[in-house]
Amino acid sequence: MRAKGCCHCPEGKLHRADYRRKPRGLKFWPKDPAQTKRFSLCCDQEGCRKRHTAPSVRFLGRRVYGGVVAVLIPAMMQGLEPERVAQIRKALDLSIDRRTLQRWRQWWLGLFVKSSFWKEARARFMPPLCPKTLPLSLCLSFAVEERRDRLLELLKFLSPITTPAAWQELVG
Ligand SMILES: [Zn+2]
Repeated sequence: MRAKGCCHCPEGKLHRADYRRKPRGLKFWPKDPAQTKRFSLCCDQEGCRKRHTAPSVRFLGRRVYGGVVAVLIPAMMQGLEPERVAQIRKALDLSIDRRTLQRWRQWWLGLFVKSSFWKEARARFMPPLCPKTLPLSLCLSFAVEERRDRLLELLKFLSPITTPAAWQELVG
């Protein structure tokens, strides 16, 4: 994105203008603020200064919890009894309340499934993914439980929806 330059004016070069973000939800997020920044760029031309935010594997849109949490936690909690969910929340020291988890689940089943991203991307999966068990079906398809790098692949796969323009379609 940086190499292409500004998409609003011909002269514009893009400079780093990262957002400071403080992901919530897990105690073990990196303490170093540099590791929790949302990478972003800004046009250097006076009168333009337009922001360009590239796809991310750190954050899922405007979610404050970080992409990993927003994908893995609802997958992990799927189909579990409330007591079991409470146990996991305690074990992981998750500061995400039940209502937030429920909202995320509805998001996966609703806005995500209806998004233009998913309508196109789902064709890549053979056998087709079950939309009713998202995001668990997605995690299993990427085999995130087997290898750690598969989780990064999954986040890369989702990264096109993390830009501000794409995210607009995914907020209710
Ligand atoms: Zn510009």
